[in-house]
Amino acid sequence: MEGSHAVVPTLLAVPYTITMVSPVATRHRESVNESDPLIGEILRKEEARQQNNLELIASENIASRAVREAMASALTDKYAEGYPGRRYYGGCEFADQVEQLAIDRLRELYGVNFANVQPHCGAGANLCVYHAFLKPGDTLLSLSLSDGGHLTHGSPVAHSGQTYHIVSYGLKEDETIDYDGLRRLAQESRPKIIVSGASAYSREIDFAFIGRVAKEVGALHMCDMAHYSGLIAGKAYPSPVGHADVITSTTHKSLRGPRGGIILYDDEQYDKAIRMAVFPGIQGGPLMHVIAAKAVAFGEALRPEFREYAAQVKRNAQALAAALTGHGFRIVSGGTDSHLMLVDLRSYGVTGKVAQEALEHANVTTNRNAIPNDPEKPFVTSGLRLGTPAVTTRGMREPEMAQIAGWIAEVLRTPADLGVAENVKRQVIELCSRFPIHDA
Ligand code: PLP
Repeated sequence: MEGSHAVVPTLLAVPYTITMVSPVATRHRESVNESDPLIGEILRKEEARQQNNLELIASENIASRAVREAMASALTDKYAEGYPGRRYYGGCEFADQVEQLAIDRLRELYGVNFANVQPHCGAGANLCVYHAFLKPGDTLLSLSLSDGGHLTHGSPVAHSGQTYHIVSYGLKEDETIDYDGLRRLAQESRPKIIVSGASAYSREIDFAFIGRVAKEVGALHMCDMAHYSGLIAGKAYPSPVGHADVITSTTHKSLRGPRGGIILYDDEQYDKAIRMAVFPGIQGGPLMHVIAAKAVAFGEALRPEFREYAAQVKRNAQALAAALTGHGFRIVSGGTDSHLMLVDLRSYGVTGKVAQEALEHANVTTNRNAIPNDPEKPFVTSGLRLGTPAVTTRGMREPEMAQIAGWIAEVLRTPADLGVAENVKRQVIELCSRFPIHDA
């Protein structure tokens, strides 16, 4: 009806003509700044925050403009329950094409036979696998949360911990995984699933060993490679492919895609259970705009530059860890083989909570994290988890890592001194201006 003309009777029965512009149709074309200035303003502030902050949260990254455009595409409107070629809705021609491309690129990226790109997030991907292969009360063996595991690997506050019987393996004195202990626990508890993967473990994980133990005890080996998936795609970290029966991941961490989840597997025997678990078992309609963005991100990760990126992420993490060690911090396990590290703050006499807040005043974004055998409560902690995926995406390299370590030390020497934080913040903003996130 927009722009059409109608004859409207008046009370005096004298007809006159008005132009009817449907307010709904007009408003529908407005930008967010026009339609909702409040949200528009907040979004601009978030862009500025990202531009002017050093993002050292290990699970974050900066998606490309192409990934962001795909996420904001018309596919956000499309229902496509089912899988390519077998949908429960009409109009799925392009949804099918985009999902098939995402699947094919993902299979190529990791060298696997099957890929499911529909999980809405990493937690959802894990839930789907548990739903496919476990019954309530079945045993799951995983790395304990306090030693670097993830909530979705069986924490008592998570669905997995409340539904399944959880047995946890941990670390040895040297703060690396206790593989002998893992094997002993597997033999004693006969789990249905052994989970490998972690969210706060910096060292290489011996996926081959865990795969062998799983075979010995008749368990399924599920690797949650969420943190490492970008490094694995870029050949900078060992791959679980060939050692894990089922692999889950997020797509937004080191892999640098949109927020989302994936499930990979090689053996057709798992196909039906996993497909059914994702839809209709756990989820409804897939997020087709996110799947389009996943396809873009997988295409980016297949390019040779991504290998260089992954290698630089690791070199940067090692440079940051070495420089922090030089400033008197202890790095858990003595270093890192990946994109992340855990910093033990006790030599500086600050807690993780104090450190995170003090660094925030200096525009350095981090997250506090428990260290092994942490004497502090989980909300306080004695550690910081730092990671280099986002700063590496901005183009920063080893010299910048040394600078950043110096600023962290400066702030944490006197965490209550806002003058010191302010001074560092000025330098951080200057550094960030030399490494813009998106071209203006
Ligand atoms: N698995 C691991 C190892 C993670 O580190 C995370 C998130 O931090 C998840 C799963 C959950 O991912 P999401 O936040 O997408 O649900």
